[in-house]
Amino acid sequence: MTSTGLIGLGAMGAGMARNLAKAGFLAGVYNRTTSKAQALAGELVVAAFDTPPELAAACELILICVSRDEDVLEMVAAVAQTVKPGAVVVDMSTVSSSTAQQAAAILAEKQAQFLDAPVSGGVEGAKKGTLAMMVGGSNEALDKIRPILAAIASRILHMGPVGSGQATKAVNQIMAAGINQAVTEALAFGEAQGLPMDKVIEVVSGGAAGNWFLEHRGPTMMQGTFAPGFKLALHHKDLEICRAMTENAETPIPLAEMTLLNYEQLMDQGFGDEDISALYRLKKPRKFS
Ligand code: NAP
Repeated sequence: MTSTGLIGLGAMGAGMARNLAKAGFLAGVYNRTTSKAQALAGELVVAAFDTPPELAAACELILICVSRDEDVLEMVAAVAQTVKPGAVVVDMSTVSSSTAQQAAAILAEKQAQFLDAPVSGGVEGAKKGTLAMMVGGSNEALDKIRPILAAIASRILHMGPVGSGQATKAVNQIMAAGINQAVTEALAFGEAQGLPMDKVIEVVSGGAAGNWFLEHRGPTMMQGTFAPGFKLALHHKDLEICRAMTENAETPIPLAEMTLLNYEQLMDQGFGDEDISALYRLKKPRKFS
């Protein structure tokens, strides 16, 4: 069996680790904040590696789920110190296509394969193992590890060469910005009309405007709670990636641009670690002032 290690035990990585362990695939974990790795490794009865090179030396499949482009490249450089020839490194963080290509080049020097495999489905999807995964890189390498990735994701699609997984995720993130704008604005309107909002969410969810975000974040939004979920500062990072990708393309993304401005306002007010549904704060300024 392929020995699998996971780097990054945040909101997404912790759920992934539990599902990998449940399926019997997880050899060990690494997390920058050591206490988190030790606690989860104890719970799952797997190894807690002290450094990424120690994990890479022990594993044929190395999964990464950290925050930003620079974090992924830092982890890939550390893994490259000891990675075994023929090993596969899969990055599930949301970063740019060019970061994925840089990571692949670093690992190719060590005869290791790299796949960019960002995911969608939120913390709930990570907990349940039902994420959607969009993969760039060798289809052959993907097919070899597909049974292991199936412990994390219920839909796994090969999108093309390295970087195409992240490009697909950028499509997802632009769409998520528009959905956030639409849901927060519509619910603020409904509340101002004096409607019973639990019923509004229930009935609208069953019709043509129904969507994941409305069902999962609508009720908490109405309670004025915005625990992540998906941190607003991370979606801001993703939309900046999308903006950079459109620089040379004739595809304006005004909804994403507006969302970037809104998120910057919220981050300035100290809400960057809240869920993206905290956009509701701006749609109901008097309720939250
Ligand atoms: P998170 O809860 O903030 O966790 C981030 C993880 O990355 C933590 O384990 C953190 O370690 C680690 N990390 C960050 N910088 C690092 C570095 N330089 N070196 C080593 N480890 C580092 O984030 P998350 O929500 O799990 O998201 C992780 C990735 O998945 C992001 O790229 C995000 O955009 C993407 N994503 C998130 C969601 C979602 O709904 N949350 C959905 C799909 C995709 P520490 O514990 O030491 O801080």
